[in-house]
Amino acid sequence: MRALIIGGGIAGPVLAVALKKVGIDATVFERGTRDDDRRGAWITFQANGMDALRAIGLAAPVEALGYPVDDISFVNGKGRPLGRMPMAARRADGQTSVMMPRADLYRVLADQAALHGVEVEYGKELVETEYSAAGVVARFADGSTAEGDFLVGADGIHSRVRRAIDPEAAPPRYVPVLNIGGYIPGFAVDAPEREFVMQFGTRCFFAWMKTPDGGAVWFANPPMKEEPARGVLSGMSDSQWRSWLRELMRGDAGPSERIIDAAPAPLTGWATYDMPVVKHWHDGKGRMVLVGDAAHATSPAAGQGAAMSLEDAVILAQCLRDLPDTSQAFATYESLRRERVERIVENGRRSSADKAAGPVARVLRDLMLPLIFKKAARDGGESMMWLQGHHIDFDDRIVAAGAGARQTA
Ligand SMILES: Cc1cc2nc3c(=O)[nH]c(=O)nc-3n(C[C@H](O)[C@H](O)[C@H](O)COP(=O)(O)OP(=O)(O)OC[C@H]3O[C@@H](n4cnc5c(N)ncnc54)[C@H](O)[C@@H]3O)c2cc1C
Repeated sequence: MRALIIGGGIAGPVLAVALKKVGIDATVFERGTRDDDRRGAWITFQANGMDALRAIGLAAPVEALGYPVDDISFVNGKGRPLGRMPMAARRADGQTSVMMPRADLYRVLADQAALHGVEVEYGKELVETEYSAAGVVARFADGSTAEGDFLVGADGIHSRVRRAIDPEAAPPRYVPVLNIGGYIPGFAVDAPEREFVMQFGTRCFFAWMKTPDGGAVWFANPPMKEEPARGVLSGMSDSQWRSWLRELMRGDAGPSERIIDAAPAPLTGWATYDMPVVKHWHDGKGRMVLVGDAAHATSPAAGQGAAMSLEDAVILAQCLRDLPDTSQAFATYESLRRERVERIVENGRRSSADKAAGPVARVLRDLMLPLIFKKAARDGGESMMWLQGHHIDFDDRIVAAGAGARQTA
């Protein structure tokens, strides 16, 4: 069997490696270049994502990329503590969350795919798909084509494969906070080791963490009610971003002002989106299927998008290994994944709403959050076990298709 994987981001290369392990050849087609610049953004890589990578032997090089985070603490605009809780569920294997530069994560996953003999073709933008007698044909913007037995859309939140499967598929939903941040080398912030400090500021959510190499990671979520028109954010200059952030954080306690001044130029922010319910994850013919953000993007507030994509990739490979045909494999994969990921997307949506609260909601939020954090701290992360405690044993067999699908040793 030959699989065509569209998208060489996070899910694509890992799926290709997982498929190799179950005897399916896969080629990844990525519209960007090998050296696309994804500098700036850092990513919270959660324990369940590392677990998925460990299932197929890819965890070590990714784990080496970042800094572990144990706790997360919250303060309000005045600097008053709202609570502290574990960043992740206390897993039996001790795996915690790791902060890492997004660009490094993409690079290492691409390297790992190459090391495992996966072919990745760059500069290949999928524009169309069509069924052939034996499978599916992908057409690319450069005029070339490729044919495989099936095609996987790992092409992110604005997925073209999703539209090929269902032309009526709803577009991504705008989340009314922007995202901006990065890393500042040689910059001291007053914060406990391995703790992310998050500030529900008066007008803007702001976060910082000191890194073991003497620097700091930070991000901010400036609220923006309406989706910005295309080009508005990318058209903002570094000094416009800085003065807007200063304005948003003016009068709030904490290091935000120093961080805004010290952050390396150029500052750039992104609009954020999620995908609440994608009705069709596969085409019902066993020829096309979605993984990662293409199927269920969660807002960045959940810090789970990468981990979800990796769980998808590994579980889809297991389904293809254990079920008699691709139709049953895709249906079983969906039934194993849908409920979990939709719950996570909903959680992410709620966290984003907290960050964009208006003056009245802010007062309520500041009253409620300490109680919520206290409860979370008391249970030592137990209530997050469903999320970050997720475990995949690659040798477990997928024994049943449909709604009753389950994994068993
Ligand atoms: C600002 C921001 C902050 C985030 N922070 C976090 C975080 O802290 N933790 C976390 O876990 N997640 C975070 N996420 C989410 C995370 O980045 C995504 O969930 C994850 O990248 C999804 O992986 P993917 O492989 O499905 O898609 P992507 O990583 O988006 O990869 C899709 C790939 O497909 C390629 N592509 C698209 N269309 C085509 C086409 N037509 N033909 C060929 N190739 C195509 C793209 O170039 C891209 O390389 C954040 C997202 C944003 C926007």
